[in-house]
Amino acid sequence: MSAPAGSARRPHVLILGGTTEARALAADLADRFPAATGPADRLPGLRVTTSLAGRVAAPRLPAGEVRIGGFGGPDGLAHWLREHAVDALIDATHPFAGTISFNAAQAAATAHVPLLALRRPGWVPEPGDDWHPVASLAEAAEAVRGLGHRVFLTTGRMGLATFAHLTDQWFLVRSVDAPEPPFPPQMEVLLDRGPFTLEGERALLSDHRIDVLVTKDSGAAATAPKLTAAREAGVPVVVVRRPAVPEGVPVVETVGDAVGWVSATIH
Ligand code: NAP
Repeated sequence: MSAPAGSARRPHVLILGGTTEARALAADLADRFPAATGPADRLPGLRVTTSLAGRVAAPRLPAGEVRIGGFGGPDGLAHWLREHAVDALIDATHPFAGTISFNAAQAAATAHVPLLALRRPGWVPEPGDDWHPVASLAEAAEAVRGLGHRVFLTTGRMGLATFAHLTDQWFLVRSVDAPEPPFPPQMEVLLDRGPFTLEGERALLSDHRIDVLVTKDSGAAATAPKLTAAREAGVPVVVVRRPAVPEGVPVVETVGDAVGWVSATIH
């Protein structure tokens, strides 16, 4: 994708997106460093591109330019960074999108582009919580067997195959797009996307007589009310821990800190 006609060379920031934070960052950068910045504030405008994987049929689009689809591994991403003269790369993907984060670290090193990871903090258990931390979806499926029979599964449609062998449990699966097989034989699908309310989550747990909740530790405020509802109802929660951010990649937790890093890196 080339720069819009008539624009001078502006520093180019690539955001690996697919999260609320990535959209907030793109909006913030567009606000602070607009393409045509007047002489009064002396800040050069930025070219901001967000990259989406293309998993969601109708994604919420961020401000600035957008490209959709995989790069073809770390080499493909490194090539893209060079070809599009990217000056700074921000990995603002979901904490569980481990492959693209690894690819970003490798590609940034190859193409000599500064890289930052933006990761919201994980959730922290509160008094009254009955959390069962596990390291993977496979471990979550094992844990579910010993904890309950009516499972609220909020880990997304992509990992459903991991639960497909559980024939004794009934699943309420919430996802943005409809899941494809293999999935558990006893399952009801709820197509929805956050933010979710505490009232709504309370009602879901009670209407479906949920006795165990499964979640990734995404740390998102938009999906946190289910944890409060589970605590109130005494429902155990299987929490899948996050993969580590690749070694050597600096991490910030807020959009404001990411904007500060861009500013310092570019200007
Ligand atoms: P993943 O396992 O880390 O990545 C798999 C492949 O998808 C990557 O190798 C890459 O393909 C492509 N890809 C991933 N993110 C991309 C991006 N932002 N732009 C271009 N290509 C991307 O990722 P995932 O877990 O499938 O998640 C896909 C996207 O959904 C991420 O962008 C993430 O932010 C978002 N998301 C994920 C979750 C989750 O629970 N995993 C939840 C909400 C949103 P190539 O190797 O061909 O470049």
